Amino acid sequence: MTTQPAQTVSDGELFIDGKWVPSASGATVDIVNPATETAICKVAWGDASDLDRAVQAARRAFDQGPWPTLPAKERARIMFRIADGIEAAGEELALRETLDVGKPISFTRGFDVRAAAEIFRYYAGMVEMLEGAARPAGARSLQYIRREPLGVVGAITPFNFPLNLAVNKIAPALAAGNTIVHKPADQTPLTALKLAEIMAEAGLPEGVHNVVLGDGATVGSALVEHPGVDKISFTGSTATGKRLIAAASATLKKVTVELGGKGANIVFADADLDAAAQAAFQAGFFNTGQFCMSGSRLLVHRSVHDELVAKLTAILDVIPVGDPLAEATVLGPLAHRAQLDKVLEYVAIGTAEGATLAYGGEPGHEGPGFYHRPVVFTGATADMRIAQEEIFGPVLTVIPFDTDDEAVEIANGTPYGLAAGLHTRDLKRAHNVAGRLEAGIVWVNTWAAFENSTSFGGYKASGFGRELGPEGIEEYLQYKTIYVNVD
Ligand code: NAD
Repeated sequence: MTTQPAQTVSDGELFIDGKWVPSASGATVDIVNPATETAICKVAWGDASDLDRAVQAARRAFDQGPWPTLPAKERARIMFRIADGIEAAGEELALRETLDVGKPISFTRGFDVRAAAEIFRYYAGMVEMLEGAARPAGARSLQYIRREPLGVVGAITPFNFPLNLAVNKIAPALAAGNTIVHKPADQTPLTALKLAEIMAEAGLPEGVHNVVLGDGATVGSALVEHPGVDKISFTGSTATGKRLIAAASATLKKVTVELGGKGANIVFADADLDAAAQAAFQAGFFNTGQFCMSGSRLLVHRSVHDELVAKLTAILDVIPVGDPLAEATVLGPLAHRAQLDKVLEYVAIGTAEGATLAYGGEPGHEGPGFYHRPVVFTGATADMRIAQEEIFGPVLTVIPFDTDDEAVEIANGTPYGLAAGLHTRDLKRAHNVAGRLEAGIVWVNTWAAFENSTSFGGYKASGFGRELGPEGIEEYLQYKTIYVNVD
């Protein structure tokens, strides 16, 4: 693996009420490049008092306007300009995301930045379509329904898709007329800061969008507990989500939680095995396995098990793992040290549980950087920890099955229910099995295919609420019935 030269970006501050400000305490932290373990820049590190200033700014911007009361076409115009601004700053956004998260640059350019601009356009186009409804009433009365914004939205995002997951919340929340306080992930806040600059330059009024950096236990908790916040939109782990739901109940906030996953990717005996192996690679290792919708359990019909595993490991043999700034790289490092430690821990757990290391098992890297090459466990049973618990790294657990019913039972046999997939040439089987899988999204003969209209979200311990698509904007609207007596 090559080692990239030290790359930096400008230091960052908090963005509150349309201004860049230091934290009240003056605290800063270094943001670390996971490929080199060197500092990329310093950022201001907020606390509850910074968060309070941001909430007050967002509150004023909502209560006094003009954002929620702007004509729809004006709101849409600003959002279209934000999309243009994201594209114009695409190279810088891609570089920030690559340096911060360790994602390959071809991917941050080709997916993260492109999708962020497209999602803004998708919801900008929806602003003028937010119709209400009229309902039957007496001859001398009128009944109609308005769809109104919720108020101040607190957006809390994880480290693995910093730009995209922020935009999944910010774009529909703004389209619906809300104002926002965003708390990005502790480890990867750099694109959130650039996005704030782009949004301000596009003409978003002061206070409508605020960014407070800081750790989850301090700034995240303060956002969840703040009485001036109407809704929390959270993406992160199931453990944090549970704590957050309990904390939000004190002020009866509306909450949506997009949580962890342990997706099952099922390969039936009649599948196109070359295509299924490619999909299994995407499902297991996309974003170095740091993907909530990963198919980290590969369920394979016993009759094609060995052939499929051989095809998959042949792909792994030639996949470029290394410097995320190199154009050819497909898998970069883990995003931070704790993720690498977690991968090492689960490799040891799987081995101790008696699964077979069919591929990899060592980091395969010396020198700086949180790299770990792909790992494939075979001979696993559905009750093992490597088959039940979210690892969030490049570790795939392969489980054989004999019947369709058994595949469905294993697939549904974890607490999670985010994503699932299946590979078959049999149309009836595809629809029948897809209907039985407990997951918010099911892919047939593919994995991780997305359109802006592809809404996703959890069943079971993977959370509730949906992002993207028309469902995504519903999470930021409330309905008001107005009954008018005209007698
Ligand atoms: P995490 O739960 O550790 O942190 C997520 C965010 O919550 C961070 O910004 C963190 O600072 C904040 N936070 C931490 N404690 C908090 C508290 N007490 N109150 C409020 N906020 C708090 O998750 P992570 O490690 O950053 O991300 C990985 C997890 O996210 C995985 O479980 C993954 O599956 C999940 N994820 C889910 C989706 C989805 O759409 N369902 C998408 C991406 C990631």
